[in-house]
Amino acid sequence: MQRDIFSEEHEIFRDQFRRFAEKEIVPRIEHWNAAGMSDRESWRRVGEAGFLGAHAPAEYGGAGGDFLYDAVIMEELAYLRAHPIMMYLHSDICMPYVTHYGSEEQKQRYLPRVISGEMVMGVAMTEPGTGSDLANVQTRARRDGDSWIVNGAKIFISNGQIGDLFVLVAKTDPNANPPHKGISLFLVESSFPGFVRGRKLDKLGLKGQDTSELAFEDCRLPADALLGKEGEGFKMLMEQLQQERLCIGVTAIQSCRRSLDDTIRYVKERRAFGQSIASFQNTQFKLVELATQVEIGQAFVDKLLAAHVRGDDVVTEVSMAKWWTTDLQKRLTSECLQLHGGYGFMTEYPISQDYAHAAVQTIYAGTNEIMKVIVAKRLGLA
Ligand SMILES: Cc1cc2nc3c(=O)[nH]c(=O)nc-3n(C[C@H](O)[C@H](O)[C@H](O)COP(=O)(O)OP(=O)(O)OC[C@H]3O[C@@H](n4cnc5c(N)ncnc54)[C@H](O)[C@@H]3O)c2cc1C
Repeated sequence: MQRDIFSEEHEIFRDQFRRFAEKEIVPRIEHWNAAGMSDRESWRRVGEAGFLGAHAPAEYGGAGGDFLYDAVIMEELAYLRAHPIMMYLHSDICMPYVTHYGSEEQKQRYLPRVISGEMVMGVAMTEPGTGSDLANVQTRARRDGDSWIVNGAKIFISNGQIGDLFVLVAKTDPNANPPHKGISLFLVESSFPGFVRGRKLDKLGLKGQDTSELAFEDCRLPADALLGKEGEGFKMLMEQLQQERLCIGVTAIQSCRRSLDDTIRYVKERRAFGQSIASFQNTQFKLVELATQVEIGQAFVDKLLAAHVRGDDVVTEVSMAKWWTTDLQKRLTSECLQLHGGYGFMTEYPISQDYAHAAVQTIYAGTNEIMKVIVAKRLGLA
């Protein structure tokens, strides 16, 4: 179905990016999956080609486009299963903290380098003892003359090994009441003394995306590493979550499309009882039901993309979309795997990777249960 949110310019950009991705990204996916992480050279290449920060301000080297250009990149990468190079994490989740809350000096220092791919970004919120309950983070930042001293541990940090610049969530006032008012954000370079990379974690899926532990051992940050105002970290995080969750909805729908397209091709080729698997009514009904739900999900996500670009507050609807699209992805990959029979369980068949990928989509960027908690509050139920 013709989608009406993208202009001709967006579609030209899509063609350009697709050609670039097929040449520069697809041939490296297998290697990244084996290595457990992407590589620095590739980040530089995507930066040089102008695909990082497609909607970052032009005065710092960005392309100055709207968020739909980044959505195009997300869609293409999700369809290609290019999960190891999580460009949306860098460009659409991390970079906006610098563009929205950074001082002029911070913007000048970091934006040209993150847009060029010289620096890779990550965000360090989750800790071994707390994930969903973000206000309860224990990582502590205390002022020491002209510096901040940080102590604490983070876990499950995407780009933890390859990253050079992290948005760190830390407590600056452990006695604040309510506790979220004691949270501040910092821009932490991996070269700062006391910044320690821990284990690269082995995972069920997303094999080529490095997910790591980080530790801060009397990590000394300059005073101007503080992002925005002290004590306003939680507020900034909440403001940025609309875009983060929308990114997940966008990728979920495109990942569903890829699983579905591959499964339709498979069932037409595979034969049982002298006929194609596709000819069984059960196969047809299952795939029709899933394809219908993908179109419904797409229509909702497109509506939210348009609203987000307009600047509307769609936190409620984006939270709905995050849980609904990723739940769909989980159900869809499970059904598609089933239609592959035993082959679906083999790692050489990409549907098995899709199934594992779907499992994490309902967990990160706020679990699907937390999405429902948010919507329940906004509906006045809690
Ligand atoms: C591959 C991967 C990459 C990640 N990347 C990053 C990253 O880059 N940066 C980062 O900071 N974090 C990252 N995370 C962490 C992720 O955001 C957290 O795992 C997630 O927020 C859940 O936190 P938790 O794991 O501590 O689960 P918990 O908070 O312990 O939750 C456990 C279960 O309890 C449920 N639950 C919790 N509270 C409630 C409630 N109030 N009501 C109902 N149910 C509830 C949850 O929904 C979940 O099902 C990543 C995680 C993974 C797996």
